[in-house]
Amino acid sequence: MDKRAFNVECRLPTMILRVALDTPLRSLFDYRAPPPDLGLAEPGMRVRVPFGRRRAVGVVVEVTDQSSLPAERLRSVDALLDPSPVLDATLLGLLRWCADYYHHPIGEVLAAALPRLARAGAPPYERIEHWHLTQEGEAALRAGEPRRAPKQRALLERLSNAAGDGVDASTLGAALGNWRDSAKALAARGWIASVESFAEPVADRGHATREGCDAPPPLTDEQAAAVAAVGERPDGFHAVLLHGITGSGKTEVYLHAVADTLARGRRALVLVPEIALTPQLVSRFARRFDVPLAVLHSGLTDTQRLHAWRTVLSGRARIVLGTRSAVFAPVPDLGLIVVDEEHDASFKQQEGGFRYSARDVAVMRAQMQNRPVLLGSATPSLETLQNVALGRYRRVALSRRGDQAPPPRLRLVDLRQETLHAGLSTTAIAAIERHLGEDGQVLVYLNRRGYAPTLLCTACGWIAPCQNCDARYTVHRSAAKLQCHHCGAERPLPRQCPQCGYAVKPVGQGTERVEEALTEMFPAVPIMRLDRDVVRDADELEAVVGRLASGEARMLIGTQMVTKGHDFPNVTLVLVLNADQGLFSTDFRAAERLAQTVVQVAGRAGRAQRQGEVLIQTEYPEHPLLTQLLASGYDGFAGAALDERRTAGWPPFSRLAVLRASAPAPEAPMRFLRAARAAAEALQEAAPSGRRLRLLGPAPAAMARRAGRHHAQLLLECADRPALHRSLTAWVPVVEALPEARRVRWAIDVDPLDLF
Ligand code: ADP
Ligand code: ZN
Ligand code: ZN
Repeated sequence: MDKRAFNVECRLPTMILRVALDTPLRSLFDYRAPPPDLGLAEPGMRVRVPFGRRRAVGVVVEVTDQSSLPAERLRSVDALLDPSPVLDATLLGLLRWCADYYHHPIGEVLAAALPRLARAGAPPYERIEHWHLTQEGEAALRAGEPRRAPKQRALLERLSNAAGDGVDASTLGAALGNWRDSAKALAARGWIASVESFAEPVADRGHATREGCDAPPPLTDEQAAAVAAVGERPDGFHAVLLHGITGSGKTEVYLHAVADTLARGRRALVLVPEIALTPQLVSRFARRFDVPLAVLHSGLTDTQRLHAWRTVLSGRARIVLGTRSAVFAPVPDLGLIVVDEEHDASFKQQEGGFRYSARDVAVMRAQMQNRPVLLGSATPSLETLQNVALGRYRRVALSRRGDQAPPPRLRLVDLRQETLHAGLSTTAIAAIERHLGEDGQVLVYLNRRGYAPTLLCTACGWIAPCQNCDARYTVHRSAAKLQCHHCGAERPLPRQCPQCGYAVKPVGQGTERVEEALTEMFPAVPIMRLDRDVVRDADELEAVVGRLASGEARMLIGTQMVTKGHDFPNVTLVLVLNADQGLFSTDFRAAERLAQTVVQVAGRAGRAQRQGEVLIQTEYPEHPLLTQLLASGYDGFAGAALDERRTAGWPPFSRLAVLRASAPAPEAPMRFLRAARAAAEALQEAAPSGRRLRLLGPAPAAMARRAGRHHAQLLLECADRPALHRSLTAWVPVVEALPEARRVRWAIDVDPLDLF
């Protein structure tokens, strides 16, 4: 990193800096940059500027010599905060692309790329304060001064013994204790002086030494081919889909591709869905490489995040591992981006204003950087498979498991022909007995936490509705409470119906209830549960996973959390309790998600020598999605699903954007969206011929009232991406200016994942 001093002579007499500020306004703001210091300003550096009546930190986006504002109205920049850009040209270009593509204000987009403390102006490097003796100080010391101040004398002596840059503040503190008062007195007499410099952050603790590093195993032919495909053109953009079932050795391919990247002197960025759920991945990287690693995720404190960001920016970190927003990490000399579990919905920012897909942004970043991107998944998204079909991405497959275990056997259990006990069929219970008897472990998957989804009064029909949402409270029995899973509201679990006083009963199953039922059925078998109620952080997760791995626990019941990234080598039976939620949803992506979940959870079975068995309980065993999945696996399913999408004109065969709005008042969102629709229609008519936008809605969201707000949406669809974006570019400023917009919270969601 460049560590130039600030005060070098300026380039231009007066420059204009076009600055992005963290505001919802879509424009850049022009400031005058008076020399000398500000003559060094470049795009990507932060500045402190006056903004209204306050001061704000912004990022220089352009340096120019003219402004549309008259000179007398231009205000001056207060200070330049960085000696070199914190967003390099490629990253700044990527963020500008994001602002365009996601139709979001540039200032807020840039803010998403910086840690909170950096947005507040924290320096890009740790500051180090060096003290040294002046010539006057040397003379004074030789003359035996100061005579009656032993502490000052000690400080002078300490500094006179120092070489080069002098002594840094923390060394002085360690050697002399409280030295600040003495320094102040000596500096006042001109005998000593200090300079500040920027230092690279100190080493992260805890990464392995070379002796401690894991040796890589020899690659299988398929793995070697995958690594070669990524490394084929290290200086150009290309996207590789690594399609391999769980346990086929994808992570090993990432490790080798990253090693090749480091060997070229470059750095690697590895994106994962949720770090808390994948501590094993992080530790595998940390054990393999003898280089500083930075880990960026949402669980960091502001100070930790700033520290990690500085480690990345300075180039010290050679590998950057992170979740969604790490796609904007300022990695210098980026040589490779890996996106693990590229299909995972958590790569999509679904909240707030700036709703981006980190997977898609990663591909764009690689393209702008002219570097390869590696997308890995056992269940690639249909979008990615379509990109393979179009020849945009190259697919390499890992068809065998590293451990040579045969793939698990899938079977449907027809719930219409079964007696159920707490959601478990007789067939399932018999299978559990058999697998436990043969010394296997059992994994039960149910995507619903809590005890039961409904509390019902059988006398009057009261169903414990949430006050803030169009939803029911979920029963949490051990915590003795009702909780709404949509707004978080809680209340004590009532013993009787608050409406008629009659007894109430929980209806349906959550993981807590299934755990209770299994404990009753198998009292001697140690059972663990894995969901957000019992596991809140990486340590608790580690404990559960550890107890299963050691064999101490024999059965695991859990939500989506069990489908992510852990090795459960002795699990021989996987039970999917309820596959039917995904079969008849109005959301066109529900089927894809169900197939991915089933395949991911099935992948947890039989990883050692024994073949695994997977039982899927359903009331619709003839449903084509399930039969397809069983007959021809995920590939067969994906092919059929893509055909369906083509016929229906859904993505990836069309492009979508959603305008979402919410407000406490029930009518406001619909009124706003109707006005927005009218504006879109007016623009369409004015527009020359060309591909037309299809407008669907507005309509209230499937759950119209959520957390006390009413939600509605307007869907925009177009077969042609550029046409959609041209329309959005013209339309969004009009929407913004609508008077109705002031009564709602609204956001544009480009390439939405959830529609209803
Ligand atoms: P995935 O990421 O696809 O789930 P992993 O890379 O975690 O797969 O590999 C699964 C298991 O197989 C791991 O225990 C890993 O150490 C092992 N493994 C992967 N590749 C090899 C190889 N080439 N030789 C030996 N063991 C391997
Ligand atoms: Zn009642
Ligand atoms: Zn609620």
